[in-house]
Amino acid sequence: MPELPEVEVVRAGLSGSAAGRRVQGVTVRVPALRWPIPADLPNMLARRVLLQVGRRGKYLLLAFENGWLIVHLGMSGTFSWKAVDAPLRAHDHFDLVFDRGLLRLNDPRRFGALLWHPASAGPPETHPLLASLGVEPFSSAFNGRLLFEATRGRKLAIKSLLLSGSVVVGVGNIYASESLFRAGIRPSTAAGRISHARYDRLADAIRATLSEAIAAGGSTLRDFVSSEGQTGYFQLDCFVYDRAGDPCRVCAAPIRMLRQQQRATYWCAHCQT
Ligand SMILES: [Zn+2]
Repeated sequence: MPELPEVEVVRAGLSGSAAGRRVQGVTVRVPALRWPIPADLPNMLARRVLLQVGRRGKYLLLAFENGWLIVHLGMSGTFSWKAVDAPLRAHDHFDLVFDRGLLRLNDPRRFGALLWHPASAGPPETHPLLASLGVEPFSSAFNGRLLFEATRGRKLAIKSLLLSGSVVVGVGNIYASESLFRAGIRPSTAAGRISHARYDRLADAIRATLSEAIAAGGSTLRDFVSSEGQTGYFQLDCFVYDRAGDPCRVCAAPIRMLRQQQRATYWCAHCQT
């Protein structure tokens, strides 16, 4: 599943290559996604200039003067540059055609989404899918104080709270395990019992972990785009994730694995308290 670092790398790539170009045509080939692609999208986008490419959580926001195209890659989607005459593959749902090349959405499992948010409806952050998302991990609003204040009285385990995305977006399963290790926090700890100082460390660890993943993604973007729809986590040099039974890289104790809400959590019982 594309995670926030992967979506951020796609965003940066599109921002550099597509922003400022005028749409020459729109092809809706298979409208069935998580929700149907809006039928009037070709009219909305015809001859419009793509102003910029933003991101909110795992949603790409393609800004046009009359609104935003909201793109989610779901479980298996790719949204990438192709030559105008590139051969079609199965599950090619949508093309945004520019003068040289096109952006093609391919999504075999159809959990992705492609929606239109008109400028008349206000900023895209007010869209129902985006309005309840937690803060962005790289925004100034995200820090230890926010985590501390948002979790007072919460009995939910900190790992599960991070995965929920309700306080901060983008901390997927691997990043949650890695960030909690770096911050020295046991994943099963009730979120409401963690101190402000420890949340300061966790906020720093989350940003560092995601930054490394984005950097790793930037260096492997070429492989990623050409990999025929293959998606997943960028290659991180993990301390704990997927290392059950292996020695901790800090203390040599065996890494443990537990399941929280059906998701595997990896941790070190010695380093995380
Ligand atoms: Zn350890």
